[in-house]
Amino acid sequence: MSQAQLMDGAGLARRIVEETAKRAAALTGRTGMAPCLATVLVGEDPASVTYVRMKQNRSRKAGIESRHVALPAGTTTAELVDTLKALSDDPTVHGILLQHPVGPHIDERAAFEAIAPEKDVDGVTLSSYSAMSFGLPGFVSCTPGGIMRLLDEYDVDPAGKRAVVVGRSAILGKPVGMLLLGRDATVTYCHSRTIGLSSVVREADIVVAAVGRPRLIRGEDIKPGAVVIDAGYNPGNVGDVDFDTARERARLITPVPGGVGPMTIAVLLEQTVTGAERQLGLR
Ligand code: NAP
Repeated sequence: MSQAQLMDGAGLARRIVEETAKRAAALTGRTGMAPCLATVLVGEDPASVTYVRMKQNRSRKAGIESRHVALPAGTTTAELVDTLKALSDDPTVHGILLQHPVGPHIDERAAFEAIAPEKDVDGVTLSSYSAMSFGLPGFVSCTPGGIMRLLDEYDVDPAGKRAVVVGRSAILGKPVGMLLLGRDATVTYCHSRTIGLSSVVREADIVVAAVGRPRLIRGEDIKPGAVVIDAGYNPGNVGDVDFDTARERARLITPVPGGVGPMTIAVLLEQTVTGAERQLGLR
């Protein structure tokens, strides 16, 4: 079999951001108010600082105002909840992103739940998760949403396909499985307690790797002709799939970097503008 076609997440993300920037400009022109994304960071974890800065820069380039709230590492759950509630009540803020992890002393779920669902553009609240699972309108988790957009872009219809999701985190594995189920795939979740991971993955028409273990999924585990989505991002720009061997068997595959990664921010920006349009009565 010839080598798989690459799924160009970077290119698709660029087009989504361009379209989002046009909508942001139109909204600013009509209402006099730019869409605004508030980012909240607790502490100074270098990776989190970098992620937040990247999101702020991309927002600005797309005509989305960004408001940053930096809280000290010792912030309590109650203080964080108060901050998020104040942003939820602030009519000049249209989307809220709490950068996680927030630190072990904070009740992360309580913090997420302080975000008003209509401003939950990162798709982290229980309300967003259930709406997504029931196929109701609302914001989706950004990385899973980006994965579904990539599948659509490459005309991969999940209906009737066997989809295997490796990983079951609340922000990635679980929601992407629910989105695939919502599109009529037959979904299997694998996780750290799964026995015989390789044999389950071998049955998949669509594989989503969302683990955080470099090259865990090997080419020999890929069913010939499968679609392989690698959401993993490990040190050294290495995914959760062994790209070189998987590429020999897959039909479509996402590279790392340049596959799933850029889609996450694109969906975040798009959902921020959608939130602003709804809150300002344009939708
Ligand atoms: P996570 O919260 O650590 O979850 C990892 C999942 O993988 C867990 O469900 C875990 O199972 C499972 N797992 C661990 N070892 C396994 C094994 N040997 N076999 C099968 N399953 C195993 O990670 P995450 O936040 O979902 O992130 C996963 C990866 O995606 C990371 O590389 C991360 O950097 C990347 N990521 C990328 C983006 C992006 O924008 N591209 C966004 C988010 C995350 P248990 O539940 O049993 O522990």
